[in-house]
Amino acid sequence: MQLGKKDSGSIHPKYIFVTGGVMSGLGKGVIAASTAKLLQLAGLKVSCVKIDPYVNYDAGTMNPIAHGEVFVTKDGGECDMDLGNYERFLDVALTKEHNITTGRVYLEVIQQERHGRYLGQCVQIIPHVTDNIKDKVRRIVNEEKLDVVVVECGGTVGDIESLPFLEAFRQIELEEGGSNTLFIHVTLAPVLDVVGEQKTKPTQHSVQELRRIGIQPDILTIRCKMPLSIETRRKISLFASVNENCVISCHDVASIYRVPEILEEQGMLRAMSSKISLKNHRPRWSNWRRISKSSYDFSSAKLKIAVIGKYVSLPDSYVSVSHALWHAGASIGSKVDVQWIDSEGFENSSEGSKLRYFDSFNGIVAPGGFGKRGSEGIINIATYARANNIPYLGICFGFQLAIVAFARSVCKLANANSTELDPDTEHPVIKFMPEQNKQKDLGGSMRLGEHRINIIKGSEAERLYRSKVIYRRHRHRFEFNQDYRQILESQGMMPSSHSDKGLRTESIEIPGHPFYFGVQFHSEFHSRPGRPEESFGAFIKAAASKF
Ligand code: GLN
Repeated sequence: MQLGKKDSGSIHPKYIFVTGGVMSGLGKGVIAASTAKLLQLAGLKVSCVKIDPYVNYDAGTMNPIAHGEVFVTKDGGECDMDLGNYERFLDVALTKEHNITTGRVYLEVIQQERHGRYLGQCVQIIPHVTDNIKDKVRRIVNEEKLDVVVVECGGTVGDIESLPFLEAFRQIELEEGGSNTLFIHVTLAPVLDVVGEQKTKPTQHSVQELRRIGIQPDILTIRCKMPLSIETRRKISLFASVNENCVISCHDVASIYRVPEILEEQGMLRAMSSKISLKNHRPRWSNWRRISKSSYDFSSAKLKIAVIGKYVSLPDSYVSVSHALWHAGASIGSKVDVQWIDSEGFENSSEGSKLRYFDSFNGIVAPGGFGKRGSEGIINIATYARANNIPYLGICFGFQLAIVAFARSVCKLANANSTELDPDTEHPVIKFMPEQNKQKDLGGSMRLGEHRINIIKGSEAERLYRSKVIYRRHRHRFEFNQDYRQILESQGMMPSSHSDKGLRTESIEIPGHPFYFGVQFHSEFHSRPGRPEESFGAFIKAAASKF
């Protein structure tokens, strides 16, 4: 077997590029993550990189309703939500370097030009921009000593923004050699008529578009409702000039965690290895099959969970919250039916009876959020959950508003609020963090990334985390105002963890309530299939025993 050795004798790293055709939203991220998972199960050191061709420096300033969740990495990167898929599939923590955007590339190239790095030269897309892209990918491969890197390019082939990135991929193939580079193209085979014929023309066109820029795909993964028919596979193979066993059906399945198995049932690793000679192309499934099965094969009753907020029109805005709930449900054999509820409909306190709607839910999650719209509704719902023994999990904004709700309804601090929502409130129970005053820019300026958290002895937090110290990720500008700590505690809302030498409260709980827990950190980013994050695990257990 040819191992793709460099002259030095060391094994040459392999580059796998995942591109998309036909339309967005095909699940390229899941296919990239599943491909990487298979390589990991075959014992290779693998990681993923996401390229986002938009001009923003990062995803931090984008509206989650338009672009989906902002995924926060350990090192405080505000990244594309596909990084969440990579982390969940591979069970790793990635850095922000794994998300490359046009903004990051151009900013660096222009800064270097200003510093005189290209003195005397005309700075161009080829080679300067493409060199920068290649350097970024290679730096990850070298620093992390990877056997394989899977690089996913966002958007669809033919987008103007993607061109420099695809050109960089083409150059990498030229420089690293065909036996070290593999192109996977994700397309769609729609069915339009009642006869159910799978259409191949969109794939043909998109492969032609890719070829026009000098890339011939090695593997085609075709999204479809039902498995690809032999006929369709044959036709695609012929027109796209891709070997028949490299045309892989990616039909709908009950859970995304099934996708690695679906790919491998069709010989994905062998197909990859025939081009890039992998060290090993047989997966050792260990517990992955059990994890995948638990995500769609349920033995206990279904749980109905309400997720409340203002970004609920696009469930992708909270994709990590959904996954964390599903992980927790799977761990007790329950399917979790997540219902997205716009909190704006619950703002009017004279319509308090409307809140009874929540009686039919097993539990309520108030996830992260920003701004006034919908916030009074969240406060009303948080109060209702407390008074009616409905399990409640508040994350970041949901933690802050649970404190506001408690201050108003139990501590009787009239008009208590967060200064984010009412800068002149008499009782600023949530206040702007002092360090934030120095920040001028809005991008990348919140309290971000992983911080050490100390858990208070004897608390519910200690019971569920079974540890004195945990590390969790953050993304916020406001925090609990310690001036109100005593009054809250005296009325029964207990801080249960803190960070920065006790300066910041990281979680609150209400002893005696079936489950009322709020966390300043984003526990959802820590959750993994087969290993739900503890706050979600405990919430779902409480939710399961509600009725
Ligand atoms: N808007 C709040 C803050 O900035 C909460 C942020 C969040 O939920 N991520 O502190």
